[in-house]
Amino acid sequence: MSEQRGPEQHGPEEPSASDCADYLEQIVYFIDNELAEADCDAVRTHLDSCNPCLEKYDLQRTVKSVVARSCSETAPEEVRARVLLRLREVQVRITGA
Ligand SMILES: [Zn+2]
Repeated sequence: MSEQRGPEQHGPEEPSASDCADYLEQIVYFIDNELAEADCDAVRTHLDSCNPCLEKYDLQRTVKSVVARSCSETAPEEVRARVLLRLREVQVRITGA
């Protein structure tokens, strides 16, 4: 009787955790408008059907806008690295679940 912590119960329509990891990577670029239009559609469709990813997307967008507002003198690369790091932590949690 071990506790189940992973997202074990999802239907066939539900995206898998490894899908989400892929999308989470793309979300960074999606927010930066660095994705091709076809990829944007795929990300949008996924966000539509995947609440956890939508939450991460919202989080990333919020982080980005806060950062953008508060650090006009900080190098964008540094900010980006920090956001990526943050996203990777979330990703590890998802793929490790
Ligand atoms: Zn997802």
